[in-house]
Amino acid sequence: MSEQNCPCGLASYAMCCQPLHLGVAQAQTAQQLMRSRYSAFALEQIDYLVATTALGQQSALDQAAIAAWSKANQWSGLEIVRHNEQLSKQHAQVEFKAHYHDGTQARTHHELSHFVQHAGQWYFLDPTTEQQWAMKQPCICGSGKKIKHCCAVYIN
Ligand code: ZN
Ligand code: ZN
Repeated sequence: MSEQNCPCGLASYAMCCQPLHLGVAQAQTAQQLMRSRYSAFALEQIDYLVATTALGQQSALDQAAIAAWSKANQWSGLEIVRHNEQLSKQHAQVEFKAHYHDGTQARTHHELSHFVQHAGQWYFLDPTTEQQWAMKQPCICGSGKKIKHCCAVYIN
């Protein structure tokens, strides 16, 4: 049986992002979560992309649009430019380049993403959901802090 390479490029899929996608392991770092989310895009695992977005943002995600974006492109590689795992006690930052082919030409999506850790798990903070925040509301990450003292700065 041939070993399938992980879309993120680090190792074989079985040794890399697959255990995360199957839910038998969880990302130890924000960078690892980022890799697994890229691989999930490549493999059209939309449920995983939803489940690894901040808890209070999951219902606001446009799953059809995510699925269409995932399917429309051929994902050819991930490059982690740099990462800061301790932006704050529970926030991290990962700068990456996702390489893909849109059917016409090769393209690169360059992004600086933010992640939050809650109850031992890393979640992606999506800056594109069209939600309105009251600055005194409890944070979308589940921390129990007011959003303005927690994740607001990363999603605006
Ligand atoms: Zn991987
Ligand atoms: Zn938060």
